[in-house]
Amino acid sequence: MPTITKIEIIELDIPYPHPFKIALAVMNSARNIVIRVHDSDGLVGVGEGCPPRFVTGEAPETAFEAAKLYAQILIGKNPMEIDTRLRELEQYMLKNPAIRCAYDLALYDLLAKHAELPLYALLGGEKKVIYSNRTIGIDSPDKMAAIAKQHVENGTKAIKVKVGTGKAEDIERIRAIREAIGNGVPLRLDANQAWDEITTINILTALAEYEIEVCEQPLPYWNIEGLKRVRERSPIAIMADESIFDAHDAFRLASHGAVDYFNIKLAKSAGIHGAMKINAIGEVAGIKCMLGGMSESLIGVGAGAHLICACPNISLHDLDSPFHFTEEPSIGGVDFQPNGTVTLSDDHGHGADVSPEWMERSKKIVISEK
Ligand SMILES: [Mg+2]
Repeated sequence: MPTITKIEIIELDIPYPHPFKIALAVMNSARNIVIRVHDSDGLVGVGEGCPPRFVTGEAPETAFEAAKLYAQILIGKNPMEIDTRLRELEQYMLKNPAIRCAYDLALYDLLAKHAELPLYALLGGEKKVIYSNRTIGIDSPDKMAAIAKQHVENGTKAIKVKVGTGKAEDIERIRAIREAIGNGVPLRLDANQAWDEITTINILTALAEYEIEVCEQPLPYWNIEGLKRVRERSPIAIMADESIFDAHDAFRLASHGAVDYFNIKLAKSAGIHGAMKINAIGEVAGIKCMLGGMSESLIGVGAGAHLICACPNISLHDLDSPFHFTEEPSIGGVDFQPNGTVTLSDDHGHGADVSPEWMERSKKIVISEK
C-alpha cells in the first residue's frame, strides 16, 4: 500500500475585480488553501479549502497554520484509508472544516487516480452536465435587475439573489429583478441570517407571487426553532445554510422539521466524506440538497461537480464562485461556461491542479517525511 511522503500547502490569493457584497460581509478577494498530497507510488492528490472567517471561524492565516499541523498527522500513513485518515485529523484538532476539506478532496482525488477513474465514477456516480445558478451580490435594485437580465439573456437557468439589508429594499430588489427577466427562470433568495422571524414571514408573504424557488438562511444560524416556525407560515420553501455544517446538524434540522432544503458546502462539511452523510440524511428525510460553495476556484468547484453526479438528491447547484475572480488559478478539471453550464472531464480524479504560474507566485510550504 502507498504511504504519504510529502504534503504541499499553497495559499492562493485571488483578487476580485469588484467587491462582492452579502449580508454578512463585503469580499474583495479569495484566499484559499490548496493541499497537494504526494504518495510513494508517485501520484499526487489535489484539494482546496476556502476558509470563510464569518461562517466557519477560519481565516487564511489560521487555516495555513492548521494545515501544517494536520500534515504532520498524515505523513507516512496510507492515503487510501480515507475514513481513518479524516477521523485522525478531526480527533487531533476539531473544527477547521474548510482546511480539513482541502485534505479530504486531496485524498479522494488521490484514491480516484489510483483507481484510474474520474472522481464521479469512484463515488458511484453517472456523468452529467450540471447547471449552476449565477449569484447576484447586494446592490441597488436597478443594478441587480440589469445583471439578472444579462444572465438570463446568456441562458442561465436559475438566479440566486443576495438580500438582507431591509424589508422594503429587499422586496424592491426582487420585484425589479422579476420585472426585468419575466417569468420562467426561478429565483433563489439568500438572506445570510439578516432577518428576524416576523420580518422573514412578512417579506416571503409579500414575495409569494414572484416565483421564488427557495429562501436560504433567513434567520441567525442558531435559531432552529425559528426556522421551523417560519417554515410553517412561509409560502416559500426554506433552506438551511449557516445552520448546517455536518451530519449532526442535518439530523437535528430534519428531526425538527425545520427546513425544506439543506445547503451543503464542502468548506462546512469538511469535504466529500461529510457531505455524503448530510445528503444521505436529507434523502431519507425527504429533504433535497443544494451544493453551494464559498469562494473556491475551479479545483474545489470541480470536486463538488463530481459529487453532484453521485448524489441525485443534490438537486440545486450553486457553484459560480470562480466568476468573481480576475484570473483562474487552476488548470484542468471542469469546463464552466458563464451561463452556468458545468461539463466534467474524464481525467482521473477531479482533473484540476494549480497552474504553474500560480505555483510559482503563491506562498507555499512543503512538509516531507523525516
Ligand atoms: Mg448561503
